[in-house]
Amino acid sequence: MKVVYSAAHLGHDITTETYMGVPIPANEVAERAEKIRSTLESDGGFQIVPPTEHGEGPITAVHDPGMVRFLEGAWSDLRAQSIERSFLSADTYPNRAMFEGMSDAAVSAFAREPVHAGGRAGFWGLDSAAPLVAGTYIAARSAVDVALTAMDLVLDGAPAVYGLCRPPGHHAARSLYGGYCFFNNAAIAAEAIIRATGEHVAILDVDYHHGNGSQQIFWRRADVRYVSIHADPDHDYPYFLGRSDERGEGPGAGENLNIPLRPGTTNAEYLAATDRALEAIAETSGSIVVVSLGFDTYGLDPIGTFGLTTDVYHEIGRRTASLGRRLVILQEGGYHRPSLGENARAWLRGVEGRPFDPQPAAGFGERGVVAG
Ligand SMILES: [Zn+2]
Repeated sequence: MKVVYSAAHLGHDITTETYMGVPIPANEVAERAEKIRSTLESDGGFQIVPPTEHGEGPITAVHDPGMVRFLEGAWSDLRAQSIERSFLSADTYPNRAMFEGMSDAAVSAFAREPVHAGGRAGFWGLDSAAPLVAGTYIAARSAVDVALTAMDLVLDGAPAVYGLCRPPGHHAARSLYGGYCFFNNAAIAAEAIIRATGEHVAILDVDYHHGNGSQQIFWRRADVRYVSIHADPDHDYPYFLGRSDERGEGPGAGENLNIPLRPGTTNAEYLAATDRALEAIAETSGSIVVVSLGFDTYGLDPIGTFGLTTDVYHEIGRRTASLGRRLVILQEGGYHRPSLGENARAWLRGVEGRPFDPQPAAGFGERGVVAG
């Protein structure tokens, strides 16, 4: 299987994030992607290829151009405003209650993009969990190119290609970045597939967290089915979306399927949810599935609460491939660094129908509690 990878992600060099306002060592770090890359290289069965540039067009097909401009200029604006920070993170958001009682006309006049860099970060930001540094925009652009190059290879006939995207994307909505995500790589790929083929596209999101951004982007769309298995938002980030009664509206009614699961979800429970998700995708007419692949469902993940083991990823990959659709597989979360490479190798070998040959366990981390 081809693996699309770009070293540009290294510029998104994050060392600190905040959890409920408290600084903690970052979870979404460059080592994650490097661990996966080196493990897949050692396997010998994967071919690492660089992305090709696709420009801004596919991004603004999904995202507000204003948000793209903000992300592009945020770091230099911070410097221009003489705001000295090691990273940019918002602290003030335009909560709708701030404008309560004002007319729609007043709100659209007053709730405009601020001038202050911190205000702009809040205007376009979902939360404080996406710290932005000097290299973030280049890295986020390259993650999109990784996704679109994986898509190109699948459109050219490959049965499955893995895009090692970093930063991840599924929390980014049309006009919103956050949750470690800047551009929604999976949504951008799905939109580009539709424009290239005219087919219906399904997104299978198996990251531990609900992909609120993917849901929002395609909420009213009849040509995209978004199916997500994730932690119940009553127990975990992103808290406000991800419940089973969110089914899409208008032309998109019935095209959104959320399968929230309890903390402590086991392999067996997760596989049952996987079968349900795959049944919903099997009903659709398209020939390509975009997979938002996360490993924060792993039992030792520092920010997850599920109990999945490496061998079950092989089985989930196998069952996903048994749909008989071509797969654009894009990396989202997963924060237990010692296991990430093996978990990815297991999943992708499952897709290929190759047996999994477990390597010795690489160590164990400690659990923490963080959003992302
Ligand atoms: Zn996640």
